[in-house]
Amino acid sequence: MFQNTKYRFFKEDLCDSCGLCFHLCPVLHLPLEKAKQEIINLIKGKESKYVLNKCNTCFSCNLYCPNQANPYQLILERWNKIYKKRGAPPLYRFVCPTEEPNLWQLLNLFLSNTEKKWIHKWMYNVPKQEDTVLLIGSYTHLFPFIIGGSKLLEYFKPIDLIDHWEGGAYLYQGGYLDVVKEIANQTKKDFDGWNVKRIVALLDTVEYMFNNVHPKEMGVEHNRDLINFHDWLIENIDSGEINLPNQLNMNVTIHDNCFSKVLGGKYWDKPRKILNKCGCNIIEMRHIKKDALCCGFGAGASWVKNIALPFDIISEGVKKFREAEETGAQALISYCSGCIYFLWATRELLGSKIDIFHIIEVVRLSMGEKLNYPKDHIKRAWDIIAIISYSLLLSIFKKNFFIKDLKYDKNFSTFKPKRQILLKFMRILFNISFIRKFYSWFFRLIIPLMKTR
Ligand code: SF4
Ligand code: SF4
Repeated sequence: MFQNTKYRFFKEDLCDSCGLCFHLCPVLHLPLEKAKQEIINLIKGKESKYVLNKCNTCFSCNLYCPNQANPYQLILERWNKIYKKRGAPPLYRFVCPTEEPNLWQLLNLFLSNTEKKWIHKWMYNVPKQEDTVLLIGSYTHLFPFIIGGSKLLEYFKPIDLIDHWEGGAYLYQGGYLDVVKEIANQTKKDFDGWNVKRIVALLDTVEYMFNNVHPKEMGVEHNRDLINFHDWLIENIDSGEINLPNQLNMNVTIHDNCFSKVLGGKYWDKPRKILNKCGCNIIEMRHIKKDALCCGFGAGASWVKNIALPFDIISEGVKKFREAEETGAQALISYCSGCIYFLWATRELLGSKIDIFHIIEVVRLSMGEKLNYPKDHIKRAWDIIAIISYSLLLSIFKKNFFIKDLKYDKNFSTFKPKRQILLKFMRILFNISFIRKFYSWFFRLIIPLMKTR
């Protein structure tokens, strides 16, 4: 479907097989001759020794290509072909809101009543034409306390539809291109039905999907005034509508997520500007912006063995932590809600001491709002570690699958999880400090044995 159509985004005619894309890749660092061979193999659809099995889906190669040939999209096309043959790994079910059990459904067992109330409201809100909708997104749904109860929400009608799949962003990164196209059509129906004044996406990634990937790569035009939250925030801070009286005087380092690299870096400066306005001093990591390393989640895209997935992800996340800690900054700031849940889980498993904040939390602190930090994050990190461990156990007995249902049934899923006795028991164990320490130690011990990269 994505081969030789007008929406094909890899520009084969512009590629001269120079190999720079995979030679400069911050993950693969292939010697130039191997890099050349690899791009030739990918173009011809031959076996790939490195890229398809080790790529972190970080987008950097598009920025290294001197000819704007979009090698990243070639990787996605190849993964799409592989997906059509072998399906998705069984563990991937847990990030599919239409599969059972899934992350959102299982997390509902551990959400506080306040969190459940916020989420319920956001999921069932119906926007009126004059509203400005804030797309909360399925990953912020996992950490509703990041923004729940904030004055920032008073400017919007917050909507949280987990079957918007973040505009298909994480599926796109795994090469599930046909599924993303269906999601583009599904979200278009919602947007057309709402017909609202303005839509603000909490994640710049999601704004990029709606404004760029859907129309240019999937052929689905939304034709909406759709901006990202950073733009909205800067506009309102500059106009004096949002005040930041509490200057934080904090040394921070910033995690540039993979999607921030699209559009030549349009998304890098705004979060830095916002942090400066909050009184943060930014100490940059060794790899930033176009060279930035992934939080680890992207390692799942090039999966080889289902059982190895969490170990591959954490082993890549370790690199990010090393760089963040080397800066000596007090805190690592993420402006992506997808990365932050992996960063927190990795922090707990590694026993790192660096603070991690979502950029919205930094803004709220600067506004003078109170957070239950870091307690809420630590609790949630262990909720997520329990869910991933449990899902990994279940996945051992399941087969690869194809993502078919894209619309979830509200009665089946989010607010009606099954009893999940084993998961609850695991979560109780993780309340015991000794067990947490032992589990983290054991996890770190077996990473080298389990990982595939
Ligand atoms: S997407 Fe990132 S990890 Fe993958 S080949 Fe390109 S630069 Fe390397
Ligand atoms: S995609 Fe770009 S960088 Fe990669 S081999 Fe082709 S021309 Fe060179």
